[in-house]
Parts: sequence; C-alpha cells; structure tokens
Amino acid sequence: MPERCKQCERYEKGLKELHERRTNLWRRGELTDAAAEKLAAEEQRVTEDLKKHQATQHGHSPVLTAKTLAIEPSQNLEEEIRCRAHELYEERGREDGLDLDDWLRAEAEITAKNAKTAAA
Ligand SMILES: [Zn+2]
Repeated sequence: MPERCKQCERYEKGLKELHERRTNLWRRGELTDAAAEKLAAEEQRVTEDLKKHQATQHGHSPVLTAKTLAIEPSQNLEEEIRCRAHELYEERGREDGLDLDDWLRAEAEITAKNAKTAAA
C-alpha cells in the first residue's frame, strides 16, 4: 500500500466536500444553475491545483479523475450510486473484492431515498 501524500489528500478532501455540498443541494432541490456553476468553478480550480501538484510532486497525471467530481446528479443516478459505492469502499478501509456488495448497498440506499423524495 503506497503511503498517501498529505497534500493529495487535502485536495481530494476538498473535492469530496464540494461534491457533497452539491449533492446535498440537489437532494433538497436547491441546486440552482448559479450554485451549480459556482461549485463547478471551485471544483475546476481544485482539480487544476491537484493536477499541478501531482505533475510536479509525483511526476504523473492525477490518480483522481472525474469519478469523484460532481456530474449532473438528476441526469445521472448511476453516477450517484458509483460515488456512494466508492464512499462505502473508503469506509471499509479500501478493502478490495467487495465492489459488488458496495454497489448493491449504494443502489439500495439511493433507490430508497429517491423513492422517498418522489413521494414527498
Ligand atoms: Zn501529492
């Protein structure tokens, strides 16, 4: 297991927080175009910083990709499930081999939540 770079972790945490803010807004139905644009701009900035950091400090292109970036959640349920599955994976301490379990759990959670939202 390669040691994680603290700076990389900071950037990843920042992106994750932006993604969470966006998801929360979307869940509450408060994701306006202006809010989405602002968050996208912030993400863009952090991503650029991360790319620069990784290119100069690690000599490779970012490990972190659009996977953790926010993508129109309302148009992309699968992406939300993917993100949630990734969160579950991280919560388990990044243990490999249980991807399908994570996916199914994430799918169940998000489907249940969406059903609730639709009924409300
Ligand atoms: Zn780093």
